[in-house]
Amino acid sequence: MVLAQLGGSISRALQQMSNATIIDEKVLNECLNEITRALLQSDVQFKLVRDMQTNIKKIVNLDDLAAGHNKRKIIQQAIFNELCKMLDPGKPSFTPKKGKTSVVMFVGLQGSGKTTTCTKYAYYHQKKGWKPALVCADTFRAGAFDQLKQNATKTKIPFYGSYMESDPVKIAVEGVERFKKENCDLIIVDTSGRHKQEVALFEEMRQVSEATKPDLVIFVMDSSIGQAAFDQAQAFKQSVAVGAVIVTKMDGHAKGGGALSAVAATKSPVIFIGTGEHMDEFEVFDVKPFVSRLLG
Ligand code: GDP
Repeated sequence: MVLAQLGGSISRALQQMSNATIIDEKVLNECLNEITRALLQSDVQFKLVRDMQTNIKKIVNLDDLAAGHNKRKIIQQAIFNELCKMLDPGKPSFTPKKGKTSVVMFVGLQGSGKTTTCTKYAYYHQKKGWKPALVCADTFRAGAFDQLKQNATKTKIPFYGSYMESDPVKIAVEGVERFKKENCDLIIVDTSGRHKQEVALFEEMRQVSEATKPDLVIFVMDSSIGQAAFDQAQAFKQSVAVGAVIVTKMDGHAKGGGALSAVAATKSPVIFIGTGEHMDEFEVFDVKPFVSRLLG
């Protein structure tokens, strides 16, 4: 279910409840079941949805509430708060500071949009006066360096990589060293992906991370991977200290649920979303407006 449809289904469920003359437990259950169905269809993990339902029932004690308008408001607010809570791990991610060198490592499966997102992230900061640089530590996929080089050249961002070197750790370390010397304040390390979650990939991520000591590791996730989001995010989190999430391809047929799962699995916030293939199709992620939009 795409985001707009999810918003529609949830608002419909709330509207149906609002139309009921009396809001009793049956009406509340029907409403919550509707919302549960909508969230599951949007690929939110079953456990998260079940927890949310339990929490709402705990908050909304029908006997204690005055009749009519108030109940609806309270239920609506409880749903809003629960969805916000699911997207807010409770602590902000590390935020690089302009003028101070930070190393940011990107991880994610092949095709997630990692390379594109690295450049978008660099470009976003460059427009704000930062001095970003890109390091291509993806020696697995043929053409990865060319792609990064092309993106970097287009946006006039310095880059580092090699056609010959096959050791990603060596390239990552050399690139980070070089750009530290050049006083870049945002050194972005693009890493390799694989089609599947493989032991070799996670071991490589661990080694690159150990060698470059990133201030922040960002997990990039394709929003259309659905129920696979939780396990994928958790697998990366177990090998490197993921501190933030970027969800890509939120345009088109994007499903919202994966984002909720990624937050739960990594205990890290979503910081940006990708909304297209172009460099500037990149938005800061903000929980409350996102949930408001979700609820329609
Ligand atoms: P990587 O293998 O993870 O490095 O993925 P790429 O950066 O090569 O991206 C894979 C494909 O997804 C490319 O065709 C990108 O243009 C596309 N892509 C990346 N981000 C977005 C996005 O936010 N929206 C859309 N529609 N396409 C995206």
